[in-house]
Amino acid sequence: DSQPGTDFIRQIVRDDLARGRHARIRTRFPPEPNGYLHIGHAKAICLNFGIAGEVHGLCNLRLDDTNPGKEDPEFVQGIKDDVEWLGYRWSELRHASDYFEVFYQAALKLIRDGKAYVDDLSAEAMREYRGTLTEPGRPSPFRERSVEENLDLFQRMRAGEFADGSKTLRARIDMRSGNMNLRDPAIYRIRKVSHQNTGDAWPIYPMYDYAHCLSDALEGITHSLCTLEFEDHRPLYDWFVDAVDLVGHPELWQGLAQAGLPTAPDKPRQIEFSRLNLSYSVTSKRKLAQLVAEGHVGGWDDPRMNTLRGLRRRGVTPAAIRRLIERVGISKQNSVIDYAIFEACIRDDLDQVAPRRMAVLDPLKLVIDNLPAGHEESIQLANHPKDERFGQREVKFGRELWIEREDFAEVPPKGFKRLIPGGEVRLRGIGIFRCDELVRDAAGEIIELHGTLDPESRAGMEGSNRKVKGTIHWVSAAHAGAAEVRVYDRLFNVPAPDDEDWLSHLNPEALQIKQGWLEPAAAAAAPEQHFQFERIGYFSADRYDHRPEQPVFNRIVTLRDVWAR
Ligand code: ATP
Ligand code: MG
Ligand code: MG
Repeated sequence: DSQPGTDFIRQIVRDDLARGRHARIRTRFPPEPNGYLHIGHAKAICLNFGIAGEVHGLCNLRLDDTNPGKEDPEFVQGIKDDVEWLGYRWSELRHASDYFEVFYQAALKLIRDGKAYVDDLSAEAMREYRGTLTEPGRPSPFRERSVEENLDLFQRMRAGEFADGSKTLRARIDMRSGNMNLRDPAIYRIRKVSHQNTGDAWPIYPMYDYAHCLSDALEGITHSLCTLEFEDHRPLYDWFVDAVDLVGHPELWQGLAQAGLPTAPDKPRQIEFSRLNLSYSVTSKRKLAQLVAEGHVGGWDDPRMNTLRGLRRRGVTPAAIRRLIERVGISKQNSVIDYAIFEACIRDDLDQVAPRRMAVLDPLKLVIDNLPAGHEESIQLANHPKDERFGQREVKFGRELWIEREDFAEVPPKGFKRLIPGGEVRLRGIGIFRCDELVRDAAGEIIELHGTLDPESRAGMEGSNRKVKGTIHWVSAAHAGAAEVRVYDRLFNVPAPDDEDWLSHLNPEALQIKQGWLEPAAAAAAPEQHFQFERIGYFSADRYDHRPEQPVFNRIVTLRDVWAR
């Protein structure tokens, strides 16, 4: 899978290498630790780590932690776990906050160079002075402060002398620019908030546009890949990189090496690609956080969530996610990917890697009258119909079995191929069974089917080739393990749950809990082990709640697309 793709970013990277523009490619994945990663982030992860891997480059994991308050060490750990789970290893783990001193020194340099000033305008006034798309902005009355005054004020901002929001350090660029981002953007704001990595060391924090490009430059990132909404920020990205010029000013960053952060700045290039959006789901940390906070789901790792840990708990494999990302490809075209494509990727992967087992989720008792009570017999079943390497397993059965209630119909609908009164069906691996008698409870509901197993139809016998319409699965009542089966489905029941009423589109049937029966070789699974339960779907033993003596399984996906219309 190290086959280089052909998307425009990989093309640029290969061209740059061919022209000798870089000795080695460096990328980074820069999540903000204000939540857990979701399926959208997987695209950025696969792209950054994937490209680096393909060209023997390097990829850093950088926690973009410049916005304290919502950030949390719990999320930092979660992000690290999720990236590793997806199958990637970072070259170096960095935090934007590792560079706070460099950012500060660089800001002093900008002030000395006349490229930054301290503004006393309130946030609201600043917005007003900024103008609109059709109206140029006006200079702040504080724009022409002297270098000395600016140095003094900024150093006092850093010393914590001023109140939150009372002063801002701004870049002096162009209040008349057609690009709003260049109208003297903020570089630092005062926020006396504890930081998850630096504690109370800093009362001022750098803005994203300033910190991100300088972090890239410091790490020697050659290609800074980000999503399309940053396209308009690119001129600012380049402005900061050029104005600070880390490559030409080693005095700004030499201290990092002593802190154990080897540094070789380069001039990074920002390249934008489109976000991954999936139908029937939301890919916004803010909305996912709201689902958790309001209790619509059990947590960030609820198997209905499209967070990476939710998908993991559901039983979705990392390979299926990588397959989706590959299939979607990389472009600048914003689009919404049909959830069915994701499900198809999950099935494609699990079909290859999931052993087969038998489980009954809605049980109906079936009694083979012509086997003696206490009869026990073993058959061998293949663990995978298309791959002998999975081997075989022994499955025991006796006189009483559980079958799916829906595999029997007293009054069959047209085309019904399974068991009916007086009819025959093949019991997977056992032989052909004829239903002779129905047993009902007091309410008239059918609780048992009785009948006979054709002794000439057993495996290997000539009579086993006799044609019957249907084959059904079963589990042996005497041997099966009772299991809780959590049948999951899509979290939303409309393709685009992105209007104001998005919570009203939650699918109430996204979780149904069933008490089923499993053959012993399924119940004995280790947590996170996955199977195809024959004729039902793909399931995985719950990462946290499953015990062999008390099995808990999650439905990952159905065998076929049941949402297609
Ligand atoms: P959200 O809107 O969910 O909060 P974000 O972009 O603010 O997402 P970050 O933690 O900053 O979240 O994202 C880290 C990286 O992942 C960024 O480079 C971002 O562009 C990328 N990313 C985030 N969401 C997606 C997505 N849906 N598709 C592709 N890349 C994404
Ligand atoms: Mg972000
Ligand atoms: Mg965000």
